Amino acid sequence: MSLKGKKIVLGISGSIAAYKTPHLVRLLVKAGAQVRVITTPAANSFVSPLSLATVSKNPVWHNVSQGDEWNNHVELGLWADLMLIAPCSANTMAKLALGICDNLLCAVYLSARCPVMLAPAMDEDMWKHSAVQHNLQMLLQQGKLIIPVAHGELASGLIGEGRMAEPEAIVNFISHFFNPQRLPLHGMQALVTAGPTYERIDPVRFIGNFSTGKMGIALAEALAAMGAKVLLIKGPGAAHTHKEGITTVQVESAEQMYSQAMQAFPKVSIAVLSAAVADYKPAQIADNKIKKSGDTLDLRLVKTPDILASLGKVKTAGQVLVGFALETSNELENAQQKLKAKNADMIVLNSLNDEGAGFGHDTNKITLITHHKPLMPLPLQTKALAAEAIVNQIVALLHEQNPS
Ligand code: C5P
Repeated sequence: MSLKGKKIVLGISGSIAAYKTPHLVRLLVKAGAQVRVITTPAANSFVSPLSLATVSKNPVWHNVSQGDEWNNHVELGLWADLMLIAPCSANTMAKLALGICDNLLCAVYLSARCPVMLAPAMDEDMWKHSAVQHNLQMLLQQGKLIIPVAHGELASGLIGEGRMAEPEAIVNFISHFFNPQRLPLHGMQALVTAGPTYERIDPVRFIGNFSTGKMGIALAEALAAMGAKVLLIKGPGAAHTHKEGITTVQVESAEQMYSQAMQAFPKVSIAVLSAAVADYKPAQIADNKIKKSGDTLDLRLVKTPDILASLGKVKTAGQVLVGFALETSNELENAQQKLKAKNADMIVLNSLNDEGAGFGHDTNKITLITHHKPLMPLPLQTKALAAEAIVNQIVALLHEQNPS
């Protein structure tokens, strides 16, 4: 993992995770980077500038002026190949999103022309607060790179999401950024279907389901993080992603999703079909709103195309096809049967019987089913972690199919 010659400005803001930054600096220096550290006033209560100066072999910058010397924030911003802000507190994140400039870290951030990475760190409730999530979206839209938060013990004593990624994971993330060709899915294309489909009944009504598309988005993001270029074919719903490497095509019906998927499939090495596609649609869409009349109303439904089965039929050697199964009874048997019937390489079994799993939740409990390996039941975990586990298996399947 070489960062030889890379110039990194590390901005440290006030979070307990700042105590890990001397170790982070050591890892960066060991990997060959030159590191200059800036701390916010709050960060200095969590980590000693002397430790940081010693491990970075450079003085630590705190203020826009030090003594009667002015610290040239523009120069520092221009010097860097990368600005890393770790930990990035909720407060600093908000300032960066809005362009507030009341300390040296913010001034360097606004002057930097290099890529910027943020490693957020906060308590789970803070992390999930709509204001923080809104700021995060703004930063993503502004092209900043976010190093995913980890799940685990938090300073509050609670267990949850919001921990700063471990220093090793941060260095890994940076190394992959500078050496993308080392990512396991570099140069590959993937398609992901996500969300529900809406099948129109008349101009104002449809048949749909409760899928939000969160799992599919997590999968698209996990595939992109591994270096793939991802086409996300997404049904209706508010969930969305701005992560680099993902192109989203918005569709409404099963038929539209089918034609987009069929068109893209020959170009991709990986297809993950996580959408909750309607199995039936109204035989006819009424031109006008259907009026309330009798006590009953019969709707004739016809089958929609089965996208997974259709891709399974045209799949070629070297392509990995993954489907999902959401079962309420005979889960395993049905999922195993689906794996064969649809010519998939892996089925992700979602259980509706587990609390916190399935539609709308941020967590999921899945079992991975392949043709030749033992079943892989995974614990209840965030959809992001579940997606990572699925993508790791996809990488393994690709290696098995293309061993060179
Ligand atoms: O057969 P079943 O609908 O339970 O299979 C679920 C899997 O098939 C999921 O991967 C889903 O995305 C996919 N599917 C599809 N087209 C359909 C129905 C389901 O691709 N019309």
